[in-house]
Amino acid sequence: MDNLLPLKELISSPKRIVITVHQRPDADALGTGLGLAALLKKRQHQVHVLAPTAYPAFLDWLPGASEVVICSQGNQERSFELIRRADVIFCIDFPTLNRLHEMEPVVRNSAAVKVIIDHHPTTDQFGDLVFRETKAAATAELLYEIIEALGEQALVDRGIAECLYAGIMTDTGSFKHANTTPKTHCVVASLMRHGADVAKVSRLIYENNNLNKLKFLGFALNHRFVVLPDYKTAYFFIKVEDYQTYNLQTGDTEGLVDQALGVKGIVFAAAIKEKKDAVRLSLRSSGEVPVNLWAKEYFEGGGHQNAAGGVSYLSLEETIRKFEDLVEAKRALLTS
Ligand code: 5GP
Ligand code: MN
Repeated sequence: MDNLLPLKELISSPKRIVITVHQRPDADALGTGLGLAALLKKRQHQVHVLAPTAYPAFLDWLPGASEVVICSQGNQERSFELIRRADVIFCIDFPTLNRLHEMEPVVRNSAAVKVIIDHHPTTDQFGDLVFRETKAAATAELLYEIIEALGEQALVDRGIAECLYAGIMTDTGSFKHANTTPKTHCVVASLMRHGADVAKVSRLIYENNNLNKLKFLGFALNHRFVVLPDYKTAYFFIKVEDYQTYNLQTGDTEGLVDQALGVKGIVFAAAIKEKKDAVRLSLRSSGEVPVNLWAKEYFEGGGHQNAAGGVSYLSLEETIRKFEDLVEAKRALLTS
């Protein structure tokens, strides 16, 4: 593994460390960030985990989650100050710095050593020590490998193991997606030996829905779902008022897109979500349908071949039209 010795040297004495995760952090970003924070604290580092925006409530049980500094929740000055004072900044689970939102320029201009740990493809050259492995199913999987390579696995306790397991379980769709490899299962076996209670993590993440979320799913299936069989495509659209009607919280619409991909014959699925300031898109595919490239081409986004996201500043109706234009343009690939 490249960069291992410089990383070992960097963390060999106590430092002021900031760990950043992407906006709307998912279980992989937050779990990896919190797992790394807990590990570094055991080596007497001063560590803060910073997120640009809130994480979903179903992750609030992750050890250390309550201490995450959420920049958008009145913590802008504090976040910026922590970044400016840091000796080391870790960037966890994101390929381009713009996913840090308003923290981006502060991180970019900081004199700290920047360490990237990520599994997304990118052309961005940012970072002093870059650990990027696009074959890793999750950034959490890659972090565990780094911990082993550093010879620090004895520090992995149950809490850290469960943080990393949460990231791997969700990024692989519970070991269903094509990113799941023999190495993924080996890492998970190690995490279980370190005490991870996999049934508990699964229950806390997947069986922790409020009733509104379920009722909204029923509504969305009936009134917000479009299937385009000639294009092997299906999508949900969500209007801004739906969030109020169903009292939806951050994360409550996660998983919707997977319902669309679950329909027989569908190879491309989307959730098109109208928010107050923009329309956000979650894209999923199966097989050789490169939704990360399409997200980049049409919606200023990116991600993995089978799971990507992006944004549109058009109206919801215009965004849907643009999405259907995309589908038309890619018809040959979708139906081949
Ligand atoms: P989700 O649909 O779950 O929000 O995101 C799926 C994948 O797409 C994740 O790997 C995430 O990193 C990536 N992704 C989501 N939104 C964006 C975006 O706006 N820009 C980029 N570059 N990637 C995104
Ligand atoms: Mn990830």
